[in-house]
Amino acid sequence: MKRIDFMQLPYPLEALEPHIGKLTIEFHYGKHHRTYFDNLHRLIIGTEFESMSLEEIVKKSNGAIFNNAAQVWNHNFYWNCMSPQNKNLPSDKLHSAIEKKFGSLEELKRLFKLAAMELFGSGWVWLVKNPNGELEIIQTANAGNPICEEKHPLLVCDVWEHAYYLDKQNKRAEYLEDFWKLVDWQKVSARY
Ligand code: MN
Repeated sequence: MKRIDFMQLPYPLEALEPHIGKLTIEFHYGKHHRTYFDNLHRLIIGTEFESMSLEEIVKKSNGAIFNNAAQVWNHNFYWNCMSPQNKNLPSDKLHSAIEKKFGSLEELKRLFKLAAMELFGSGWVWLVKNPNGELEIIQTANAGNPICEEKHPLLVCDVWEHAYYLDKQNKRAEYLEDFWKLVDWQKVSARY
């Protein structure tokens, strides 16, 4: 069996405070993310998926295996979109692409927030590079993942309530505003 490890959080549990609290991370990373990971391991035992990488499982599975595999992938990616050292900006190359597609970084942030606010129920909002090389903001419901549509993820925000309820209760807009203070543009730019 190809061993898929549970990812290490790239910063301490309290590193994203005051925007995302330690308690949120304890539950979100330590319980929600961990449960998807444990479920996935339990579900793939004795199946063709046991020997695949996480990405292959996401692309080839459906049903419960897909839901848990994609949630593991999405959370791995989400934690690696943020950083407590959040002073950086998009690279020149990414910034040019943002200006070309959206007009400005501020407009990208506005449209991204709008997409997140309009997403009904649980899901994810992504900045992706589509197969034509263009930037695009997309929503996915539940565990949905752009790699299934051959789109290359650059940035994601988790808009399941468990991502913000302990910090913000029902105020999704506040969570989204704070999210930009944590985005690690260095990592996002490196993916472009
Ligand atoms: Mn989540």
